[in-house]
Amino acid sequence: MFSYRHGFHAGNHADVLKHTVLIAALQHMAQKDTAISVIDTHAGAGLYRLDGDFASTSGEAKDGIARLIDVPEAQLAPALRAYVQTVRSVNQGKGVKTYPGSPFITHSLLRPQDKLRLFELHPTDWRALDGNMAQLDTGKQVEILMEDGFNGVKRFLPPPSRRGFLLCDPSYEMKTDYGRVISMIEDALVRFATGTYAVWYPIIPRQDAHDLPKRLKTIATKAGKGWLHATLTVKGSKLRSEVNDWGNTTEAKRPGLPASGMFLINPPFTLRAALKEALPQMQQLLAQDKNATHTLEYGE
Ligand code: SAM
Repeated sequence: MFSYRHGFHAGNHADVLKHTVLIAALQHMAQKDTAISVIDTHAGAGLYRLDGDFASTSGEAKDGIARLIDVPEAQLAPALRAYVQTVRSVNQGKGVKTYPGSPFITHSLLRPQDKLRLFELHPTDWRALDGNMAQLDTGKQVEILMEDGFNGVKRFLPPPSRRGFLLCDPSYEMKTDYGRVISMIEDALVRFATGTYAVWYPIIPRQDAHDLPKRLKTIATKAGKGWLHATLTVKGSKLRSEVNDWGNTTEAKRPGLPASGMFLINPPFTLRAALKEALPQMQQLLAQDKNATHTLEYGE
């Protein structure tokens, strides 16, 4: 069974990028009345406590959402403002003690006619997800499936309304995940060519990770589909040795995740402008060293 638990990473810089894009895309799609079917292939626990000791923000959120939560709203680009408002909606007062994962975020944007399907394979996270979603009045609008998300999506594509958004956010703990993302997207585009597909991936020194956006670009281009690719780097990824308290140089360590990307096929047309404004601000607010940067590229 997997050892990855999103709880430790919840609210980190990668979640800031992913969830800002998720909200901006869904807000745009919700402007039309026709029902939207949303599929989250790797849902996680849905809601995370960041204050394990009820005192302060812990884990990676310190260098993520915690840097944004108290920035005055008027200073934030609209897409970042919408993201911060969503996180604030599950918190009271200042700071951030609770972090909404993609299921909570998506649920907050659903209209009565929309449908949300959540896949989570880890039994512990599935139970947490089920319990967390039970706090919301989801009725039949939300389906929570303890199944493999890569395979499970097939039977829901195309959705009856022919309007759909799919978030694919694996932990990439299984190295086969990179290849499975590609196969799933290829298959999904055959079943439902006009769906919007959003894939999150880590930017790490690993060939599969490096190739993933290139392969997605090739798939989109061959299928004649528009695409958008946004990345956010918060620090350098070089091996780093440290000098300890006794003046000795300790073994080189690879620092935590330095960067990540979101690749969308059939992105909402407003997303490009929204991210053009939001990404420089994310970079500025989340930078951990001078290597912080961002990229935004797209194809019609
Ligand atoms: N999408 C969530 C969010 O933004 O809040 C975070 C998801 S986390 C990165 C990935 C999740 O996928 C983990 O909870 C893991 O247990 C689950 N998982 C791993 N392999 C899976 C699979 N094949 N199908 C469904 N869930 C899977």
